[in-house]
Amino acid sequence: MAFDYDDSNIFARILRGEIPNDTVAENDHALAFRDIAPKTPSHVLVIPKGRYVSLDDFAANASAEEIAGFMRLCAEVCAREGIGLEAGQGFRAISNAGPHGVQEVPHFHLHIMGGRPMGPMVS
Ligand code: C5P
Repeated sequence: MAFDYDDSNIFARILRGEIPNDTVAENDHALAFRDIAPKTPSHVLVIPKGRYVSLDDFAANASAEEIAGFMRLCAEVCAREGIGLEAGQGFRAISNAGPHGVQEVPHFHLHIMGGRPMGPMVS
């Protein structure tokens, strides 16, 4: 399955170093940075360094190494932010995809949000 990837999207520009970001953690396969409009005390976006539009694109087409690197960076973010279950906290991880998911930036990203109790998932 082919997913059209637009290299001009803002996260591609962040990965190329054209736009600054507030990096939380990074490895060979993924970058984690603070959302510019945080919805929670800790709101970090984790993005793969490869060209993937959405979760379904990434899950279907990324290599095992890319997927492992991405997931390990998610764990590192939770640990660094002190929001994981190890810290007795908890978080919400969300990925918006496509028009129904109201995805603004067409480069796969996971929102990791925590730092306060959250209400039930709505709409
Ligand atoms: O809907 P979607 O998950 O695509 O939302 C994109 C997110 O990227 C928003 O939460 C927005 O605040 C964030 N963003 C950012 N830095 C930018 C542009 C957008 O953190 N330069």
